[in-house]
Amino acid sequence: MHSRDAVFLDELCPKLRVRRWRQSLHKCTGKKCIYCGKPSESIDHIHPRALGGLSVTQNCVPACLSCNGHKSDSEVFDWYRRQRFYDPRRAMAIRAWMDGDSRLALRLLQWAEPLNGSSSPTDEDDNLNCQVA
Ligand SMILES: [Zn+2]
Repeated sequence: MHSRDAVFLDELCPKLRVRRWRQSLHKCTGKKCIYCGKPSESIDHIHPRALGGLSVTQNCVPACLSCNGHKSDSEVFDWYRRQRFYDPRRAMAIRAWMDGDSRLALRLLQWAEPLNGSSSPTDEDDNLNCQVA
């Protein structure tokens, strides 16, 4: 019964559902911009909405306002390669994310940020449980 109730609630409150989804995306990357690693304050559409990009997990990544604003409607890898903070591991992570492989994406992001390794194995397991909706 509980799961039925949840679906019903989601249908009644689509905004709540979107908010939860956005929060889950931020949680996936540890609230960090997938491009530069700064705190993620927004959700960026990898393939811009203006060009027909969908609001699905594979096309939406946590990004800081700076990256989100600069990228605008550029092709993501074209834009990213020109950034000072370009990191091929992050580029691979973005590619993995687009392929729906958030598990691989997170591994690559962690690899790109070895200094952020204060997390215990338990925390890592939590991260890997991120669901691609
Ligand atoms: Zn950024």
